[in-house]
Formats: sequence, structure tokens, C-alpha cells
Amino acid sequence: MRKQIAAANWKMNLSWSEAEQLLNDLLSSSYHLSENQQVIISVPAIYIPLAIQKVAEKSGVHIAAQNCYPKANGAFTGEISAPMLASVGVKHIVIGHSERREYFNESDTFLAEKVNATLAIGSTPIFCCGEPLAIREAGTQNEYVAKQIEASLFQLSADEISKVVIAYEPIWAIGTGKTATSDQAQEIHAYIRSVLAKQYGENIAQSISILYGGSVKANNAVEIFSQPDVDGGLVGGASLIVTEFNAIINALK
Ligand code: PEP
Repeated sequence: MRKQIAAANWKMNLSWSEAEQLLNDLLSSSYHLSENQQVIISVPAIYIPLAIQKVAEKSGVHIAAQNCYPKANGAFTGEISAPMLASVGVKHIVIGHSERREYFNESDTFLAEKVNATLAIGSTPIFCCGEPLAIREAGTQNEYVAKQIEASLFQLSADEISKVVIAYEPIWAIGTGKTATSDQAQEIHAYIRSVLAKQYGENIAQSISILYGGSVKANNAVEIFSQPDVDGGLVGGASLIVTEFNAIINALK
């Protein structure tokens, strides 16, 4: 059975005390996780040790990094490597968020290196893909997303790809309040799974969790997550509001 995941992306938000408060509020709130459900909270790097300590006793709740650098160490001022993240207990790393692709010019090839570096330290890449508005309007979103996946993931062995989580996030829906309809989400998630199946076989494709991201809120999560190929969400804005994120966790299948 595929993991159903509610992943938070705090992006570059919150002070130390606000982060601590949000974690306290979330961890003491009334969400319920079953065996195949996970919560993954991706926090700014500086809060990772605090957050890991907070969730230590909570089964099914994990802390993720929002990024890593693909080299293990060296003269890369300001960067944080995957082994460094592993050394503080990180087991999940978000790779290829559209904000990193757009504002930091991260290419498919560079992202492939980050995926490799994440797997090399035994962590799970949460690999983001998704099309801009112009591509959606041209109707070529499937080809666009397939290319992103092929270029950054198809270097992986079958064993390696089984450890990846994919987050489909149409750029036109991120932080805009516009959500893909549940039919649009299902259609492209099923397509992504077919791309994986063609390369790695149906069994592996069926085992990979594919999350939807783009203005997921408490009031649309149940409908989006109920789609057969949607295995939860990657949530930005709503993950900063405890009642919203709590409801999103409870919307998991
Ligand atoms: C995101 O940050 O990945 C995201 C989907 O943001 P939002 O939920 O705010 O659209």
C-alpha cells in the first residue's frame, strides 16, 4: 500500500519562537495518523535540529530539509550538503521546488545530482515537478512534466526510484489560491504513474507516492486526496496555520 503523506513546506517563513510555537501547536493537535500515513514538515534549515528534537517521540511525523547541495563537502560557501543534513537526523529532502528552479536557476541535471546525493545518504527525495501556466494553456503539461521526471530521475535504478516521493505542483497553482481541479490532478498523476511504469514496471510505479501541491487547503484537501492516484499533498501557505494543516492531515486517505 502506498504511503499517504501530508507534507508541509514552510518556505522562508517564521522566527525561531514562531517555529517552536507552530510545532508545539501542531504536535498537540488532534490529527490522527494510521499505519500508512505520514506527516513530513519541511522547515528552514536553521530550525531543523529544533524540529527534529520536537518530533522525536511522534511516530509518523518527520522533518525534511527544503534543499541540499549535491557535493558532500568543500568550498561551497553558504550551502548545506546531504551528509550534513543526515548527521542531524534528516531523512527527507525536498528537491526541485519550482521556486528553486525559477529563482536559483536549478536545472534538471543539477537536480538529478541532488536526487543522487539524497539517496546516497539513505534519505528520501521529495522530487517536485510541474508546469507553468503557459504550458498548461498550450495543453502540453504531460510532455513537460515527463521530461522533468526523465531528466532528473531516470538515472536511478529500480531500487532507488522506489525510495523517491514525487510532488506534482503546477506552478500556476502555487501560492495563487488557484487549485487544479481534482480531475486535473488525477489525470496528470495517473499520467506520471504511467511514465514511471513504462520505465520501471507497473509494480514499482504503483508503489511510488505522488503528492499534489498548489493551494491545498482544509476545504479542498478531501476532494483532491480522494483521487486514486493522489497520495496526499505538499502544502505551503496552509501548513503555517495549525487548524488548516491539521484538517489537511485528517483528509489523507
Ligand atoms: C508549495 O510551497 O509547495 C505550495 C504548494 O504552496 P501553496 O500550498 O501555498 O500553494
